[in-house]
Amino acid sequence: MNFTLGFRPPLGEPSAMENLARQLVCPICLEMFTKPVVILPCQHNLCRKCANDVFQASNPLWQSRGPTSMSTGGRFRCPSCRHEVVLDRHGVYGLQRNLLVENIIDIYKQESNRSEQQVMCEEHEEEKLNIYCLSCETPTCSMCKVFGAHKECEVAPLPSVYKRQKTELSDGIAVLVAGNDRTQALISQMEDICRTIEVRSSRFASILNGPQVPVL
Ligand SMILES: [Zn+2]
Ligand SMILES: [Zn+2]
Ligand SMILES: [Zn+2]
Ligand SMILES: [Zn+2]
Repeated sequence: MNFTLGFRPPLGEPSAMENLARQLVCPICLEMFTKPVVILPCQHNLCRKCANDVFQASNPLWQSRGPTSMSTGGRFRCPSCRHEVVLDRHGVYGLQRNLLVENIIDIYKQESNRSEQQVMCEEHEEEKLNIYCLSCETPTCSMCKVFGAHKECEVAPLPSVYKRQKTELSDGIAVLVAGNDRTQALISQMEDICRTIEVRSSRFASILNGPQVPVL
C-alpha cells in the first residue's frame, strides 16, 4: 500500500498539499518556483532566473550594452497576464523578491519530505502502519493483526478510517461554525433590544423629569 500518512487522501479530490503545489508553479519553467522569486507589479510571480530569460528575450541588446549605458532597464510582458513590466536600470534585479512565496516553498518542501517518511510498526520494523485497529483505536501493522497484539481485533485499512474520521471532523467543525453563527446572531439581536430599551427608558426619564405641573 502506498499511503502517505497525513496528506494524501486515498481517493478522490487532490489533497491540500497538491493544491498548494499547483499554486507554486512558475509559468515559464513549469516547475515549482526556484529562489529567488520575484513579484511583478501585476502581482504575478516568476523565478528570477525565468524573469531574466523572458526579459533577455524581449531586450536582446540589454546585456551586451550593459546596464549603465541605458537610461532604463527595458521592459517585458508578464507571461501570465501580458501586463507590461517596466524595469529600472537594475533589470530583473530591481524587482521585489516575494519572500512570502519563498518561505511557503521552504515549508512545503520540509512538509513533503516529512510526510514521505512512512511510519513503521514499533514491533515489526519492516512493516508499515497501514491498518487501523477499530477495537483498540490505534494504527497498527498487518503482522500485528495476523500474529501479534491485535490478532483478535477488528481492523480496517488505515486510509479509509483516516478518510472517514477526517470527514467526521470536518462535519463536526461545520456544525460548530453554524452554531457559532446562530449564537452571534442571537447576541446581536439582544444587543439591539438592549439599545432600544435604553433609548426608550431615557425618553421616559426625560418625560418624567421634564417640566411638571406642581401638584400643590
Ligand atoms: Zn521559473
Ligand atoms: Zn501578471
Ligand atoms: Zn506490528
Ligand atoms: Zn487491537
